[in-house]
Amino acid sequence: MENPFDNQDEHDRYLRKNLALSRAFEIDKQDKQKSKTPSSVIAPVMQDCHKCKENKLCTSFMIMQTITLDGSASVSKERVYFCLDCSPDKKKKDKQMSKKQINALLRGAKKGRL
Ligand SMILES: [Zn+2]
Repeated sequence: MENPFDNQDEHDRYLRKNLALSRAFEIDKQDKQKSKTPSSVIAPVMQDCHKCKENKLCTSFMIMQTITLDGSASVSKERVYFCLDCSPDKKKKDKQMSKKQINALLRGAKKGRL
C-alpha cells in the first residue's frame, strides 16, 4: 500500500527546491545589478594626459572634434585622457562649488544685515 505521507514529502521537497532555485535566481539578479555599477564608473588608468602630457592617473573622456576636410566639416568623437588635475569634470565641479559658496556668502551677508 502506498504511503500518502511519502508523496507529501516529495511535494515538500519539490517546493523547497523551487524556493531555493527562485532564491538563487534573485541573488543572481542582485549580483548582476551590483556588477553593473562598477562598469559605469570609469576607473582611472595610467595614461599620458591629453593636456599636460604627463603620465599620470587619468580618466577617459569623449570629446567632439571638428575636422575640416576639403571645405566640409565633419564632427568626430575621440576618446582622450585627462589627469585628475586637467580633468574637465573637476573644473565643472569647482565652478559649481564656488557658485554655491558665493550663494552661501550672499545669504550669510543678507542675514547679517537684517
Ligand atoms: Zn594633465
